[in-house]
Amino acid sequence: MKKKSLYIIIAIVVITIVVALAVVFLKQKTSVVENVEVVEVKIPELYGEPIEGWILYTDTVRSGDFLGTIMGRYGISPQQIDKIAKMSSDTFNTTLINPGRPFTVFADTVIDSIPQAKIFVYENTAVKFTKYDFRNPDTILIEKFRKPIDTVNLEASGVIETSLWNAMINNGYSWELALAMSQTFAWTVDFYALQPGDWFKVLYSELFVGDKRISIGEVQAGVFYQGGKELWAIPFTQDSTQCFFDTIGNSMRKTFLLAPLEYTHISSRYSNARMHPIFHKVTEHLAVDFSAPMGTPVYAASDGTITTRTFGTGAGYYVAIRHNSVYTTVYMHFSRFGEYNVGDRVSQGDVIGYVGSTGWSTGPHLHYEVHENGRKIDPLKFEPPPAEPVDSSNLERFNEEKRYWIDKVNSVKMK
Ligand SMILES: [Zn+2]
Repeated sequence: MKKKSLYIIIAIVVITIVVALAVVFLKQKTSVVENVEVVEVKIPELYGEPIEGWILYTDTVRSGDFLGTIMGRYGISPQQIDKIAKMSSDTFNTTLINPGRPFTVFADTVIDSIPQAKIFVYENTAVKFTKYDFRNPDTILIEKFRKPIDTVNLEASGVIETSLWNAMINNGYSWELALAMSQTFAWTVDFYALQPGDWFKVLYSELFVGDKRISIGEVQAGVFYQGGKELWAIPFTQDSTQCFFDTIGNSMRKTFLLAPLEYTHISSRYSNARMHPIFHKVTEHLAVDFSAPMGTPVYAASDGTITTRTFGTGAGYYVAIRHNSVYTTVYMHFSRFGEYNVGDRVSQGDVIGYVGSTGWSTGPHLHYEVHENGRKIDPLKFEPPPAEPVDSSNLERFNEEKRYWIDKVNSVKMK
């Protein structure tokens, strides 16, 4: 018995020492691990929540799904769903969801094969998401978030074989870039008259969320070679507005003449309903009539290409000018045409015809239409983008920045 108790004492002492050593050893080890954790290891997060400990489910909204029906599949009670609907005002409607959009469920348990969601995240767009937090049993927290967007600077180049579109697609660029370029160069490059051998170099940006490309950012600067000329787009900010300019500081946007002739008075304004002077019934007049003496010269309102020059029963002798992919102007009732034919480029102020009274007209006047994306807008309320050149006081700064952009664009390798 005595021997036995001695063994027990020895055993206790030994165990105590071992435990003590183990504690000291482990403590050291933990503190090392803790240090490492603080310095290097970041706990993985999803939508701002540490993912550790959650059962995660990711899926996309199917057509016909409502937010409530989806949440119901993940253990959210009808009472809670009702609460969300009541919390969603018109300005903060969180229950509207679209098929194809992804959602993620953070569940803590699964009961009767139904995951019990504690957090539900719906991706409204590639950038925005809404988080529904059910962790507090008394209140539902609904918050909207924006993912950080990264801007990546890129470059593009190409030689035209058939069209800008084909050159872009063949060289692996997006249609969005083709569109952005056609807008940047809308006033200087005639995209309908590109010839094989014309070329472009452009600097642009794209927007990313993580690794995922969201959309094009913007065209930063570029050059288009057409008709033996280099047409430059140099970005420059003055009066806190950024615009594109050519190499001598002229705006790439052209203004429109307020009126394309010297008129005596406006005989009919833009209106959805007016009494027609000839037919004596109410019709719309989506144009302005400028009265002027017979033979008064009519000018191209802005730079463009003549697309129509013909006789119409109602319009008489008339001309249409396409200025860019957005704007077209139409001039009617000419007594005779100017010297330009269909397909000719005209500059602002070129004489395209002379006031007359041909077609359905009660006296010499110009019927003038402005079409914006194919829709007739009020020429007198039409405010084209401003086209101020670089101010002389800014020229020094412009020339410095111009040098930078020209060098940068020129260094783009031709594809
Ligand atoms: Zn008219």
